[in-house]
Amino acid sequence: MAENVLVVLDGVGDSLKKSERDLLTAGRVLGPVSVAATAPVTDEVRAQLAENGVETVYVPEGADLSGYLVGPTAAWLSEVVATASSASGPFGVVLLENSADGKETAARLGVRLGAGVVTDVVGLEADGTVHKSVLAGSYEVRARATSEIAIWTLKANSVDGTAASAAGTAAVTPIAVPESALAHAARITGRTVKPASGRPELSEARVVVAGGRGTDGDFGPIEELADALGGAVGASRAAADAGWVSHDLQVGQTGKTVSPQLYVSAGISGAIQQKAGMQTAKVIVAVNADPESPIFEIADFGVVGNLFEVLPQATAEIKRRRG
Ligand SMILES: Cc1cc2nc3c(=O)[nH]c(=O)nc-3n(C[C@H](O)[C@H](O)[C@H](O)COP(=O)(O)OP(=O)(O)OC[C@H]3O[C@@H](n4cnc5c(N)ncnc54)[C@H](O)[C@@H]3O)c2cc1C
Repeated sequence: MAENVLVVLDGVGDSLKKSERDLLTAGRVLGPVSVAATAPVTDEVRAQLAENGVETVYVPEGADLSGYLVGPTAAWLSEVVATASSASGPFGVVLLENSADGKETAARLGVRLGAGVVTDVVGLEADGTVHKSVLAGSYEVRARATSEIAIWTLKANSVDGTAASAAGTAAVTPIAVPESALAHAARITGRTVKPASGRPELSEARVVVAGGRGTDGDFGPIEELADALGGAVGASRAAADAGWVSHDLQVGQTGKTVSPQLYVSAGISGAIQQKAGMQTAKVIVAVNADPESPIFEIADFGVVGNLFEVLPQATAEIKRRRG
């Protein structure tokens, strides 16, 4: 079953991010991929989209959608779906990032199109079945929309971006933003750029090294291991609440959900609310002084020991092997 797929890229920068390439790869599992970019794309991005087999790139005409919250984006996407459907055959699937904005856009677009929406998608099959992570990552269910068009939001690191078998033309096609969509839209009036840490974004990182109350406030060994592995730093709520790290590093039920290839948990007991945010990691390594700690129940590799002794040894060995 080949479906025309519309991949939504929100706020693309100067070049495609890994999560954006992953969306394109996931889309190609199902059929030919077009892109709806919410802002104009650079020549470099256009070239990258062509390399990824994209034939058409829809861009908004008449408004900069990045200046608004998601309402106008959803309205514009429904125009893209309607216009493109008459031009190149109907879209069967719209694919978005599983970010807060991605999920809200999916919901609004779902209402406009009368489409089934599946969020937290972690895998997809060529016949249109998706795998969805539920109950804070404890279970994976298979789902399928019965509507003519399905909208899915894909979790980061669920697929590995691979090269397209054939290049596309990535022809840019402007589509007007409906004026009615802008009339009552919430406009963004200011932005403050967060100082960059130089590390990858936590929710997208392939490696996360997280520290908890066991660090006693010293995140030095956590940061050094994260840097040796090129990973992001995460934290338990106890560590964030103590003010040792900022709250946007908190992993768990009330923090971020991460799904990296490797999650190193150090000085974290493994409470259910912490597990909720990280148990879908491919490989979990736990370092904890208490052999009875619940984190060892879900760890693939466990080290019973003092993190201030274990982590620096791991960091030194990684650096030595990398020369
Ligand atoms: C509604 C609700 C939502 C919540 N949301 C979240 C959430 O999003 N994320 C989250 O993390 N928690 C969340 N929590 C809190 C959660 O229940 C735990 O309290 C919290 O995760 C504990 O953090 P911790 O593991 O760092 O601390 P602790 O449970 O105190 O564990 C510290 C661990 O460090 C080990 N340790 C101590 N010293 C060392 C050392 N030198 N070397 C190695 N190991 C050492 C100890 O053996 C212990 O296992 C939530 C709770 C509630 C009620």
